[in-house]
Amino acid sequence: MPDSTDDQTVSWRALLAETTQLIGDSAHARWLCEVASSSPSGDEFMAEIEQSATIRMVAHLEAMVARYRAGEPLQYVLGEWTFRRIELAIDQRVLIPRPETEVVAGVAIEKAAAVGPTRTVADLGTGSGAIGLALADELPRDGTTVWITDASVDALNVARANLAGLGPAARNVRVAHGSWLDALPVDQQFDVIVSNPPYVAIGSPDVESSVTDWEPAHALFAGRDGLDDLRLIGAAAIDRLHDGGWLVLEIGADQGNALRELMAAVGYDEIEIRPDLAGLDRVALGRRPPG
Ligand code: GLN
Repeated sequence: MPDSTDDQTVSWRALLAETTQLIGDSAHARWLCEVASSSPSGDEFMAEIEQSATIRMVAHLEAMVARYRAGEPLQYVLGEWTFRRIELAIDQRVLIPRPETEVVAGVAIEKAAAVGPTRTVADLGTGSGAIGLALADELPRDGTTVWITDASVDALNVARANLAGLGPAARNVRVAHGSWLDALPVDQQFDVIVSNPPYVAIGSPDVESSVTDWEPAHALFAGRDGLDDLRLIGAAAIDRLHDGGWLVLEIGADQGNALRELMAAVGYDEIEIRPDLAGLDRVALGRRPPG
């Protein structure tokens, strides 16, 4: 890193080259420089790459590079990440939004968009707000109500910050604190209930150390088989769905059969297990039978 105190004319091109060399990943270096330079987009960063960085920007970049080199995931270091069409502020209070969860949100949007003229949906354990805020963003502005819940006050604070950045769709969103269905008003029924709960078995060897070292354990682990919260939500959600309403759950790649069985036992019909973009089982959905 150039010495920022006596060289105030270092260009972003030079900083990008040095950052790439330091961290050995040109794509990640580019993200770090874009955020440090407060560029609203990659194109704008490139347009201004010959301009010099301010001392404050260099200090920000240096701090981010130090965190990255200590092993902190890129997304937390950047403090923001894109989920479908929205930009989310994130930090260690919440899980990093994952591409497979974009697929889960897409299924919930598909089911909720088919309901009209009004639709009420809930995202349980919203974390950063990713699924729920994407629903609010992509469903019709008229007639949509999205509840986002979390048992973690820390997570809800992150979600509220992201709600504040959502724009006009924010007026369709309600925030509630509490565990799974308990967070929701007792007299409210839903057309779609969606959740990405913790579903990893405690002690699972499949989770990378960057995940266990940095991400909130309470958002990842759910009992010996990873099914504790999926079971709870599956059992409780059916009574909170309108007739014909859908439950949409993110699941682990090896949990498809278990979800089929437990959702059938609770009384859902039209049960489906759908894959993520990697072709792994990732979404379980089922309908409260009509009438
Ligand atoms: N997909 C995440 C992982 O394996 C787990 C997310 C979750 O438990 N909801 O790292």
